[in-house]
Amino acid sequence: MTEKKLDENFVISEKTGKKYFPTIGLEIHAELDTKSKMFCSCENNPFASEPNTNICEVCMAHPGTLPVVNKEAVKSVLKVSIAINGDMADFSEFDRKNYFYPDIPKAYQISQFKYPLNSNGELAGVKITRIHLEEDTASSSHKGDISLVDFNRAGVPLMELVTEPVIYNADTAMNFGKELQLLLRTLGVSHANLEKGEMRIEANVSVSEDGNFEMLEGDFSKLGVKTEVKNLNSFKIVGAAIDFEIKRQIKALESGEEIVQETRGWDENKSATFSQRKKENSDDYRYFPDPDIPKYKISKIEEFSEENLKKEIPELPWEKRERYQNDFGLNLDQIEFFLQNPKYDNLFSNTTKSLKEEKSFKLASNYISTVITGLEKNEEGEFSNFTENNIVDLINMINEGELSSRGAKDVLGIIFKEKGNTKKIAQEKGFIQKSDPEEMKKILEKILEENPTQVESYKKGEEKLLQFFVGQGMKATQGSANPGLLAKLLKELLS
Ligand code: ADP
Ligand code: ZN
Ligand code: MG
Repeated sequence: MTEKKLDENFVISEKTGKKYFPTIGLEIHAELDTKSKMFCSCENNPFASEPNTNICEVCMAHPGTLPVVNKEAVKSVLKVSIAINGDMADFSEFDRKNYFYPDIPKAYQISQFKYPLNSNGELAGVKITRIHLEEDTASSSHKGDISLVDFNRAGVPLMELVTEPVIYNADTAMNFGKELQLLLRTLGVSHANLEKGEMRIEANVSVSEDGNFEMLEGDFSKLGVKTEVKNLNSFKIVGAAIDFEIKRQIKALESGEEIVQETRGWDENKSATFSQRKKENSDDYRYFPDPDIPKYKISKIEEFSEENLKKEIPELPWEKRERYQNDFGLNLDQIEFFLQNPKYDNLFSNTTKSLKEEKSFKLASNYISTVITGLEKNEEGEFSNFTENNIVDLINMINEGELSSRGAKDVLGIIFKEKGNTKKIAQEKGFIQKSDPEEMKKILEKILEENPTQVESYKKGEEKLLQFFVGQGMKATQGSANPGLLAKLLKELLS
């Protein structure tokens, strides 16, 4: 039983002040990043520069050819199934989804109807209905009255994930999409880039006037009539289209219009959805089991065993979040930064192996996520010049008081340009902080002599003047002193 959350998720009509309850379910396709296509040995590269180069008799549906199931593609979906705690199918069957369009050579698409590889599961708090495997279509482009079809994409493995209608606002939908993208990338099963169409989100949206019910699983009869919005190629657009659709449907209902079940597109210029076609239902596709593809039992195939698949599943995003928070004390923003940017995450994560205290982890995280990214933005250099030893040495030297934050930045700047050893650079370029107490004392004594009024005020209790003296000390040493040491010596001299 899925309980509809009543109070938090309603929209108030601008016109009548009445409450409406939006419901959203997502259908998300992702191209799987396998070596070859779903049913043939053509290279899986839909972005090949020359059109119609990665094609063969099988994916072009020549008579007499037979499809062979790509095991890697099946494994990819099974890994997602394990990650979302779903129920892995044991029986596999592929079905033909019949329809004609110039971008499907066979006039049917091989898909899974009755036996999806995964049922159930949950991600980002959203219940998942199913995930099945199918093949992508070709891509067509239209120039004037000429249409061109590129079959490089035809037959590329595609997974389709369907959620339950248990999303009640645009933010949750966007967050779900981002979390799925992160999961697919973490598992290495898809690049999942929305802009490139490697991941495609379709949002089913309805509004209902009654939020006061418990929805029985699979019983959508109490929900309003839904529309399905397609061609949403960024998360921002997913959110905007859902919000638009909710408002549009409320307006329509209030002006006595009937909502029709249809597919709508997104018009970027108007920031609006528009009607594309009335929705087919599954009867129209005349699904039936594909007689060309053997049915098989998942558990009979060694590579598909849960035990083997689990060995190939890396640390999942939510596991990493918890570890980075508990073990390193990073804040949520920093953790997301690393999750979204594997390049920096690798450097950080290798660095943590040689560091111990929370203070050091946080420093390493800061230098990588702010200083190094800043260098990349503003200067010429190579990120790959940075090694984990560079960062570990840097953090240790900062902790020892040998490097100021200014000095640390300068050292990183040099490594970015020309590689090198952190300690050596700091020594050669004179970045090592002055920490000879006797020498510092002399400098500070002179500063105190030159500032008798401030000394008097300090002694009368104006303790914040300590910072002023530290500042003077830093100035006198051109920033090479350790401010901590200066403060300590000043307190001694002034007492
Ligand atoms: P269809 O047969 O039109 O494809 P499905 O029942 O397969 O519809 O559901 C497709 C998607 O639409 C799923 O993500 C489901 O959660 C969602 N959905 C179904 N009914 C509604 C509704 N009334 N409002 C919003 N989403 C819905
Ligand atoms: Zn082929
Ligand atoms: Mg459907």
